[in-house]
Amino acid sequence: MSVTPDGENPSALTEPSHLSPSSATLFEQCPRRWRLRYVEHLPDPPGAAALAGTLVHRVLERLLGDSADQRTLERARTLAAEEWPLHQASPEVSALSLAADEVRQYKWRVWQAIAGLWQLEDPARVDVLATECRLDVQLGTVPFLGVLDRVDATEGGVVVSDYKSGRPPAAGFAADKLDQVLLYAAAWRATNGGSTKRARLLYLGSRSIEVETTDEAIDGALGRLHQKWDALKSCFSSEEFAPRTGPLCAWCPYTAHCAEGRREIRRRMDAGLVSRNAPAMRHLE
Ligand code: SF4
Repeated sequence: MSVTPDGENPSALTEPSHLSPSSATLFEQCPRRWRLRYVEHLPDPPGAAALAGTLVHRVLERLLGDSADQRTLERARTLAAEEWPLHQASPEVSALSLAADEVRQYKWRVWQAIAGLWQLEDPARVDVLATECRLDVQLGTVPFLGVLDRVDATEGGVVVSDYKSGRPPAAGFAADKLDQVLLYAAAWRATNGGSTKRARLLYLGSRSIEVETTDEAIDGALGRLHQKWDALKSCFSSEEFAPRTGPLCAWCPYTAHCAEGRREIRRRMDAGLVSRNAPAMRHLE
């Protein structure tokens, strides 16, 4: 598939077969970026933080898969040590070309996130129903696809949780983030039947952000998902994926394919609004 420097492709476009929460979020951030990633399949290699997060998820998946009395910090350390060689040898981590001190920082970051679970809850007291659940289900008109980190049984009802190893959002931005777990709750209900009580974002080592999964809350998240799906389909109909410029352009991997993004970054640089260390800087030289 040929791509012009600004990401336009003259051939007909094929609509996506699924929409995941992360894909929906990226589309909302910038339709042009969404197209470059999901239609043109231009590379967007994960950074160290995202890769470290995959190892954290893997260790916690195994830990919560153990019997409750085995879910100790010591066991988590053993699991992390077991997982490390395979993780370090993966093509994505190898591509980071980490120096010895950077490897130490990377492993420290992973461990801080894993141990951070104990700041939020005692995993030995959790009644786990499922971990790493692939949810491939039709939600209204949207073919939803996502992987739910954990589902617990509690006295109050079923709780769905998603681990986050980054920093929690600033006040006022939590509601957007909670849509993801509300959609997971909706997909869990649609797949398994029954109801859910709460949905949580577990910011490891920091705090938990939670919402009651009332019908009203889930309907609101589903409504916003449908709006994004309809907007995405409109983009496919018109074959126009407008760039949405802003602060995130400086962190976009596709600035070489986006003249509007390059202009935005220059404007922000002139205004002193962007760090010269931002990844996109190299495309402006
Ligand atoms: S540079 Fe900015 S406007 Fe262009 S694709 Fe990336 S995020 Fe979108």
